[in-house]
Amino acid sequence: MLTLLPLPAFDDNYIWLWHDEHHAVAIDPGDPAPLVAYLDARGLGLDAVLVTHHHRDHTGGNRALRDRYDCAIHAPDNPRIPAVTHIVRHGDCIRFERLGLHFDVLATPGHTLDHVSYIGHGCLFCGDTLFGCGCGRLFEGDAATMAASLDALLALPDDTRVCCAHEYTLSNLAFALTIDGGNPALIARAQRDQAARAAQRPTLPSTLALEKTTNPFLRFHDEDMRRFAARYLHSAHPAPHEVFGALRAAKDAWDATQP
Ligand code: ZN
Ligand code: FE
Repeated sequence: MLTLLPLPAFDDNYIWLWHDEHHAVAIDPGDPAPLVAYLDARGLGLDAVLVTHHHRDHTGGNRALRDRYDCAIHAPDNPRIPAVTHIVRHGDCIRFERLGLHFDVLATPGHTLDHVSYIGHGCLFCGDTLFGCGCGRLFEGDAATMAASLDALLALPDDTRVCCAHEYTLSNLAFALTIDGGNPALIARAQRDQAARAAQRPTLPSTLALEKTTNPFLRFHDEDMRRFAARYLHSAHPAPHEVFGALRAAKDAWDATQP
């Protein structure tokens, strides 16, 4: 029996953890402490770590976990990521035989240029590329790069479970409502996710179907978002990646107004 759960870390990170009561695989363990506490309380071994990108809140546990469990560390090719044992590239399939797990590696640059996502068992581990009702900031890539990555995620099956690396959903919903407040699916999601957080439950995983109908950053091909971008950019016919860029710029400006 395989279990998948999000372990909270820092203020708003999730370390996604697969285990079968004996062995475990963890994704983006930026802080080793909550993971070690969970594993040791249950007598679980850590077989492997998967890393989506080089930011410290996703890689800060690598060294300590490798020392403690002698686990494999799979990560994109970037010397800033510590303790890597296996470099992953777009198109790779990585297998963990003891757990019966396998993941396809998809390059999803934009938030950072090294960013990859892992897809397997109906789940998408998208790091800081896609969030509940939002997406990652453009620290290294441009809008066209990120839009191409999001297009690749849009091609996944609708019932894919979306396992993001941060609990940013409520803040993202608040922004989405400012530009898409007439969307009934978005209003319903905001009510559900506010109730989940009030009960200290994660809003994740979501599904790709839900993100497609509520997440503005996956709707940059839609007429509603194109109209918003045309106003924002004072441009009559923005291309899809320009629509995405306008949404991202509007969110960055909105973030700057938040306490
Ligand atoms: Zn990041
Ligand atoms: Fe992060």
